[in-house]
Amino acid sequence: MPSSRIIKSVFTLFVIAIGFVPPVLAEGQRLIIEDVTLIDGKGNPPRTHMSIVIEGSRIVDILHGSAKNIKADQRIAGRGKYLMPGLIDAHIHLKGAYPETIDGQTVMAGDREVGIKTLHGFLYSGVTSVYDSGNAPDYIFGLRRDERAGKITAPHIFASGAIVTYPGSHGSQFGGVLIDDWPEAKSTLDDYLARKPDLMKLTYEERGWGARPMIPLLPLDLMQKAIAYANDQGVRTTVHASNEYRARQALSVGIDNLSHPVIVGPITDEFARTLAAKQIPMVTTLTIGERYSRLAEHPEYLDQALYQATLTPDEIKKMKTETRKEYQERVWTWWMKIMTPIAQDNIRKVHEAGGILVLGSDQSSGPSSHRELELIVASGIPPLEAIRIGTLNAARFLGKDRDMGSIEIGKIADMVLLDADPTVDINNAKAISAVFKSGVRIDRSRLDLPVNHK
Ligand SMILES: [Zn+2]
Repeated sequence: MPSSRIIKSVFTLFVIAIGFVPPVLAEGQRLIIEDVTLIDGKGNPPRTHMSIVIEGSRIVDILHGSAKNIKADQRIAGRGKYLMPGLIDAHIHLKGAYPETIDGQTVMAGDREVGIKTLHGFLYSGVTSVYDSGNAPDYIFGLRRDERAGKITAPHIFASGAIVTYPGSHGSQFGGVLIDDWPEAKSTLDDYLARKPDLMKLTYEERGWGARPMIPLLPLDLMQKAIAYANDQGVRTTVHASNEYRARQALSVGIDNLSHPVIVGPITDEFARTLAAKQIPMVTTLTIGERYSRLAEHPEYLDQALYQATLTPDEIKKMKTETRKEYQERVWTWWMKIMTPIAQDNIRKVHEAGGILVLGSDQSSGPSSHRELELIVASGIPPLEAIRIGTLNAARFLGKDRDMGSIEIGKIADMVLLDADPTVDINNAKAISAVFKSGVRIDRSRLDLPVNHK
């Protein structure tokens, strides 16, 4: 092997080992994507022969026709290709967290290597932002800090850290932040808010559905005080609720958005109209429930390219055998199979009423984010609308729509270049030619993923 190639291999190994891929476009440089079909993420029909000019991390111009007269440090031919905003998965729980017992106390820790590989899988799949809706705080906030400092290659990370809940309620095991009285809860919330969560995540759940027993519920007046306390400090709030009644109550005490659709039964038209009138974003989270029967009945989905690229052969083998058998035997699997179409009807009703749906898989992988897109479209929502749900609407959910979520002048250049039109078939959102985060083209061949270790 010539020495230059050895040096290159060593460098590649080093790059993979530390999980850092150097940016291709330096700060202030100009990149132009020429003559592309533009899908802006705002729900506008695709526009052909468009040129997009990016300087540093931002989009500075969008023009019809050629940009040959504009100087550029880098040009990408877009003819025959489609450019859409990077996907935003607005409900994940990043893989890698585990409970650890220290001095008899159970706390949550996280395996950074697992986390970084998972984040690489998101980028590889065209997901340029993720919102983690509850995790081990030190783990996820550490990764968020490193992502923002440019120390790791990852999508933009938004996170809540821990989940705020009531003793014994949903999310209280493994490191939930427990509140049970006011004003005593203030100091607990002060510690929580000091970590600068991008959203405060609450749960409002008594279960008693889907073969699950009843559990204690966060008192409504306590939730109201917690929401006001966070809002007063400029922090928006989101809640896990699973039925219409609890979701309505959460709305009545000022929650800013909903982390799940209603899944335990059909919603009323009035609820759909209320969400639309109040413009309360609601995350779709269909994948988390549908994945059980999917694996039980259609394990061949794992043969698709994105799964093969991001999962190891051992992981795939285990899913097709052990995990599949386990899912087939679970009551939950078949309950969720019946409830998923009901949740799909519910999200379609909200969408048709003019509400803001938001893509969120409640899973932890790039392919799962694409599955969510597929399930949104299977609900009867056109692909063009599903793209908005996975881009601009998700940015709105995060309160970041001034900066991201669409391809518009002034916005951060988070984009995916595709070889086929996702507005005619949502599966084409997987025909990825290039991924850009903050104006930087991600070198997908250098990401720490099984596809690059073959
Ligand atoms: Zn969740």
